[in-house]
Amino acid sequence: MRLRRIKGAEEAVAASSRCISSPEAFKENWRHVFKNGNPIHIEIGMGKGKFITTLARENPDINYIGIERYESVLLRALQKTDEESLSNLKFIRMDAMQIPDVFAQGEAERIYLNFSDPWPKDRHAKRRLTSRIFLERYDRILPPSGRIEFKTDNRGLFEFSLQELPKAGWNIDAFTWDLHHDASLNAGNIMTEYEEKFSSLGNPIYKLIASRGNKKAPSA
Ligand code: SAM
Repeated sequence: MRLRRIKGAEEAVAASSRCISSPEAFKENWRHVFKNGNPIHIEIGMGKGKFITTLARENPDINYIGIERYESVLLRALQKTDEESLSNLKFIRMDAMQIPDVFAQGEAERIYLNFSDPWPKDRHAKRRLTSRIFLERYDRILPPSGRIEFKTDNRGLFEFSLQELPKAGWNIDAFTWDLHHDASLNAGNIMTEYEEKFSSLGNPIYKLIASRGNKKAPSA
């Protein structure tokens, strides 16, 4: 995402009750933040937040946490939800590398990755959100039944992910090379900002769903 620094973004994010400013403090205690024991689904790299905000509106019995690295981007998501109560939606500004510091094993049940930065150069492969470095971290916060749902229009990143996930011990439960023409996987699909943009240009959208299967939980 092209980043334009927005003056005052840091202060606005810090002042917002929707943003959790010291998320490590809530590890193992997220139910107290939401005041219920409903499942937690997270989106990593949520950008301006349309996807996760729509999910939160549609599913009041699921708690959603959007994670975004940049305040200036997170601010846009905050502005969109300013007027809404949405008690099941929180945001965290952090790098996804930190998620095991923030969630205990089993605390988040699903991870959404939407239009993650492709990092096309081989020497940057470790920065891809579907690289084994990140998969190992997701492994440490999901329960055995946990899953990842990943969408992109970037063929190289999708091919990489289809190979990387099984190498890291994950099962690919379903995938499509054309989400918007796949009646089954597209049912209930919520488009992200990037998805709207790239599908309007005629790009096919790729999606996969992966689960941890019977993998042994890594030690914390
Ligand atoms: N998911 C949104 C969508 O589909 O419209 C935004 C996609 S944008 C290409 C990728 C977003 O992921 C950017 O906002 C970027 O700042 C964020 N991001 C990339 N790497 C990240 C990381 N390691 N931790 C948290 N956010 C990250």
